[in-house]
Amino acid sequence: MSSGHALASDQAMLEECNPFLSMARGFNTAADHLGLDEGVREVLRQPDREMKVSLPIRMDDGSVKVFTGYRVQHNTLRGPCKGGIRFAPDVNLDEVRALSAWMTWKCSVVNLPFGGGKGGVICDPRTMSNGELERLTRSYTIAIMDILGPDRDVPAPDMNTNEQTMAWIMDTYSMHARRTTTAIVTGKPLSIGGSQGRREATGRGVMISANQALKIVGMRPENARVVVQGSGNVGGIGALLLHQEGYKITSMSDMYGCIYNEKGLDVPAVLLHLRRQGRLEGFLGADHIQASEQLELDCDVLVPAATENQITSRNADRIKAKLIVEGANGPTTAIASKMLEDRGVVIVPDILANAGGVTVSYFEWVQDRMGYFWSEDIVNSRLEQIMIKAFDEVAEMAKRHNVGLRTAAYIVAIDRVATVYRMRGLAN
Ligand code: GLU
Repeated sequence: MSSGHALASDQAMLEECNPFLSMARGFNTAADHLGLDEGVREVLRQPDREMKVSLPIRMDDGSVKVFTGYRVQHNTLRGPCKGGIRFAPDVNLDEVRALSAWMTWKCSVVNLPFGGGKGGVICDPRTMSNGELERLTRSYTIAIMDILGPDRDVPAPDMNTNEQTMAWIMDTYSMHARRTTTAIVTGKPLSIGGSQGRREATGRGVMISANQALKIVGMRPENARVVVQGSGNVGGIGALLLHQEGYKITSMSDMYGCIYNEKGLDVPAVLLHLRRQGRLEGFLGADHIQASEQLELDCDVLVPAATENQITSRNADRIKAKLIVEGANGPTTAIASKMLEDRGVVIVPDILANAGGVTVSYFEWVQDRMGYFWSEDIVNSRLEQIMIKAFDEVAEMAKRHNVGLRTAAYIVAIDRVATVYRMRGLAN
């Protein structure tokens, strides 16, 4: 292959992996099915507001480093913006923009009274101390505080942020507002207004989605071999809950490597090892394989629960799973998604499969505003009701339009937002 050719295909791959273009492709396909007019499309395609902030932080060694952060508010037609904040070295505006739009569709598909937003800070949390992370989080919160609020925009955890990060955000906001405002952020520790079941919620939603989708492919959990990419809040807990349901988890991975046991992993033992060692490396009950082989392993269900663009036109043909349940946001490019659906692979799209997290975030926000907290059983059963209802509505829409679940989920979601838009009209 000439280098010119290689360059062109790299360019094509760059475009294929641009999450905003991927989101726009999914949006346009669904909008065509809905016969949405160009004006409405234009409104729903654009984010309402984008904020970029510079965050000067005193590092532990005394030096000053300036970090860049973003908060994008995609749409508020159905309610305040909702969506996580991620800390990662490769955060960029196009990604945050796409993720904020996905939040609008995600909240709509499960019918929560929220719009979509997303935030990100370019940093490498692995190289930062706890004190540096705290100063960065507080400075980011102050910088975007004017556009936040329980009725405006309510952040939550995402990649590399956690309950502690949310506690710092809640405290910083409350200090400046001069009143404790728990409903400003979700995914908080239980002791400061967090919800029972929030930590497990995304994994639980993945498990519920897998159960529903398995009926479509005509399998039972006991016969389903599952490969889970990732082992964090989504992949790790998702794998554990699927294991408890009787699925056979044959492979899991983390950012350092990947383990495989064709007889099925002892998932609780894997998670214990991970807690103790901080990585899967050294786990004895499995073979260690190359991360690049994982997605192509022989299996029935694949759960990509790590990050974006893991399944592309480069590896889609080699994927053997019959069912893909997207725990991560945007793990499959639009092109790969079409290739897989063309050969009959069922894909439960991210905006449905991982909506369990934001659903329990919604419960947390409701509980904070009521000042009245629910038991874990109530949280879990309400989550299950919402997820099953959303799944059935999407499956029904897929039948009606003869499309895959991804396009069907977009149709359900966009139709709801467009209906509100038509009712409310333009503000001018
Ligand atoms: N970051 C999660 C997501 O992508 C959760 C968002 C939330 O709870 O607001 O869905």
